[in-house]
Amino acid sequence: MAYQALYRQYRPACFRDMVGQEHIVQALRNQVASGRIGHAYLFCGSRGTGKTSAAKIFARAVNCLNPQDGDVCGECASCKRLAAAEVLDIIEMDAASNSKVEDARDLLETVKYPPNESRYKVYIIDEIHEFSDKAFNALLKTLEEPPEHAIFILATTDPQKLPNTILSRCQRYDFARIPVPQIVKRLRLVCDAAKREADDEALNHIARAAEGGMRDALSMLDMCMSYDGKVDTARVQEVLGTNDRAFLFRFAEAVEREDAAALLGAVDELIRDGRDPAIFAREVAQHMRALMMAKACPDELPGLLDVTQETANDYVRQAEDFSPTRLMSVMDLFMGAETALRYASSPRLYLETAALKACLRTGEEDTAALKDRIADLEKKLRGLQDALDAGQYVVAVQAPNTSAAKEPAKKAAKPARQDAAPVEIPREETASGKSSDAVWKELLDKVKRVQPGTFAFLSQGRFDGCAGGVYRWHPSSGSDSSVAYVMKAKELLEQLLTEISGAPSHFEAAAAAAPAASGVSQLQQFRDIFGAENVIEQ
Ligand SMILES: [Zn+2]
Repeated sequence: MAYQALYRQYRPACFRDMVGQEHIVQALRNQVASGRIGHAYLFCGSRGTGKTSAAKIFARAVNCLNPQDGDVCGECASCKRLAAAEVLDIIEMDAASNSKVEDARDLLETVKYPPNESRYKVYIIDEIHEFSDKAFNALLKTLEEPPEHAIFILATTDPQKLPNTILSRCQRYDFARIPVPQIVKRLRLVCDAAKREADDEALNHIARAAEGGMRDALSMLDMCMSYDGKVDTARVQEVLGTNDRAFLFRFAEAVEREDAAALLGAVDELIRDGRDPAIFAREVAQHMRALMMAKACPDELPGLLDVTQETANDYVRQAEDFSPTRLMSVMDLFMGAETALRYASSPRLYLETAALKACLRTGEEDTAALKDRIADLEKKLRGLQDALDAGQYVVAVQAPNTSAAKEPAKKAAKPARQDAAPVEIPREETASGKSSDAVWKELLDKVKRVQPGTFAFLSQGRFDGCAGGVYRWHPSSGSDSSVAYVMKAKELLEQLLTEISGAPSHFEAAAAAAPAASGVSQLQQFRDIFGAENVIEQ
């Protein structure tokens, strides 16, 4: 007998056997049991979440002569005929390879003929989003006046590509990613049935890599089982190779440990696997972005990244090992590398260099930490200045000079330097009576809800105050990409600021500081802040 892939062998034959999607299964069973069956269904969800399996079972259940609580009985004449595929009353079509209008017309031409032996003729069209506009139009005509005996089940991973006219005529069901424990349970069952030994950890690893898709999980297990012996973690890692989220986690871990040997080994593995270094660089940058989001909004992570709770937990855990500045600098590094790699004559060498740069900190982070501390100091100085202005203290301070300071010192002692002036960051009251700090805080709360990515960047920089309705924000660690990212949301930010403060408001991002590598400008920055005479060049 020819070998049958595991996911075919273990495709559920009835609703009772389905893993996950309990709500959808229940709703479909209720419809069968009550006989209130629609003409058009839309099953959405990522690959391997059970859309096609549910469609096939539903097609048999509506025709079952003796349904059990809305599930197929598996015993009646109809169940037996349909299971043996003896009749052509369940018609399956893959829209990806039949996307033209002629294909759709050929199929729809048959709709008007009644079923051969069953009650309903069920059309299952997979990857429906691949249909051409004309094909959709042809389908729409049928859906507008479907014959009593016809049921359409449209399955797609991409519902947003469907015209509204189609969407509005379908009962929609969204298939969620299947949780890891449920996948593990199923994998265990398969191993037991095949009398194969398997580690819990190995099955867990497969389930995580499958990212909520049962079909992928079974295919991976299939590959692992094609080798003799026990299915263990080493075997799984070998089979999954570098095409796996776990590989990115290991890569990031090596970056965190500054383990150059491990990173070079990983690059070697990638190249041997024939993977594109540019795509990998992008994946690393995306991984770092995910870690930043895990820091900023851990609770919303599964929805934001479209991952299972387990994967979200992995991100949150790994994010703890990194400082925001480090994440940002590694992300910048690999984003730059992605572009450069497309034109690099030796991509391997370039990727290795990027990996080494990521693990050999060039003091960049220390500088960034120093800058953070300077920002802190500036804030304290501002507080002191306010206290002085309010007449609470009379202290002679040598005030620092920053670009924001234009007015000469008022009550402060005469500055030692001609150009020195107190920091004068305005903290004006807004039309709504809120302080600009309060407005900023409210803004962050709102942005967190609507654009968590923007929030992640905003919260890692600092608020520089508001003057004349212009709210100023300063990125952390001189990251150009964070400015670019945040400025994409400028319009939204200004709209929110205007709403919150009750007066027309604008948003400005300070230009990113010069990279730490250019020592001259850094020195200048220190001179600007502390006064030239206080900075001694070593
Ligand atoms: Zn039956």
